[in-house]
Amino acid sequence: MTESTTEKLYCYNHPQRETLLRCNRCERPMCTSCAVLTPTGYRCKECVRGQQKKFETARWWDYPLAVLVAGILGLIGSLISNMIGFFILFIAPVAGVIIAEAVRLVIRRRRGRWLPLAATAATLVGGLFIPVYTAIFTFLASFSTGWGSLLGLLWPAVFAILCASTVYYRLKGIRL
Ligand SMILES: [Zn+2]
Ligand SMILES: [Zn+2]
Repeated sequence: MTESTTEKLYCYNHPQRETLLRCNRCERPMCTSCAVLTPTGYRCKECVRGQQKKFETARWWDYPLAVLVAGILGLIGSLISNMIGFFILFIAPVAGVIIAEAVRLVIRRRRGRWLPLAATAATLVGGLFIPVYTAIFTFLASFSTGWGSLLGLLWPAVFAILCASTVYYRLKGIRL
């Protein structure tokens, strides 16, 4: 670094522009119009782009994998919540964490902009599958049996919503 301070620096993109700036990642000289100010200092456009690319590491198959795992676990959670009723208020956030961690495990912690949303939607669909299915079934049968059994669907539905929101926050990296 010390010997470079004496020589004249020219922008890597504009060889005739003299400059004092260097990219703090790849160290190449760059002019003010080529420099991008990041929270960690000035960087060249290629390094900024490379950083953004690294952030998006998900492969295409991570999406079906995440959806499958979150959907199946959401369905299992829904079956359990059907049996334990009120206690799902305590179980749902834990189930959400388990689902989020399971999703992160199968996609090997790769990141994708739409992955948290995909996993959350799948959890919701998996968790709401039984309540919705039963609601339709009850609706069709309601003319003879009445609506009483619909109340039993409340807990699985609450479970699905609580659980799915935990999955979202967990995968988004937001701490509650
Ligand atoms: Zn750079
Ligand atoms: Zn330049």
